[in-house]
Amino acid sequence: MQYPEPIAKLIEGFMKLPGVGPKTASRLAFHVLNMKEDSVLDFAKALVNAKRNLTYCSVCHNITDTDPCRVCDDSSRDQTTVCVVQDAKDVIAMEKMREYVGLYHVLHGAISPMEGIGPEDIKIPDLLKRLQDDKITEVIIATNPNIEGEATAMYISRLIKPTGIKVTRIAHGLPVGGDLEYADEVTLSKAIEGRREL
Ligand SMILES: [Zn+2]
Repeated sequence: MQYPEPIAKLIEGFMKLPGVGPKTASRLAFHVLNMKEDSVLDFAKALVNAKRNLTYCSVCHNITDTDPCRVCDDSSRDQTTVCVVQDAKDVIAMEKMREYVGLYHVLHGAISPMEGIGPEDIKIPDLLKRLQDDKITEVIIATNPNIEGEATAMYISRLIKPTGIKVTRIAHGLPVGGDLEYADEVTLSKAIEGRREL
């Protein structure tokens, strides 16, 4: 027997999410059927609002509902330091730590020749442009401690070094091969503290 059309569509929708296979998708779909109608409506609205009302900051490329984002727009933050991360999720991880007061630059990926991702495919050209006319004196590279993250860090440091801007790499208290977003706050804070010049 096949699922009625509405539930088949719902299962299909869940299967578009990362890490969700047919089994999980049907479990989630049936869970939705058992939810109160109000909760389902709230959930549906949250999905649509997130998509409609969020954009990317034109300065740092972080996800934001204002442009420039709240970090770029906050004059109390240290305007001379930029922390380069791979994903918007990494900014959240850094902010949770509450110790870093500088600015960010979100690359939206890392260089990966295997996947055909070059420097032009992520926000590296934007970073270089930003460094030309801003008062930035230090770039902290906080890409993930894996092959792609390291390659990206090396590439960026080679480009920036001749400009005289200090380039540092966060220390490797972080688990190798791990993602920045999964590091706990203490580890992340130590990683920033122990950053070394490239
Ligand atoms: Zn921003």
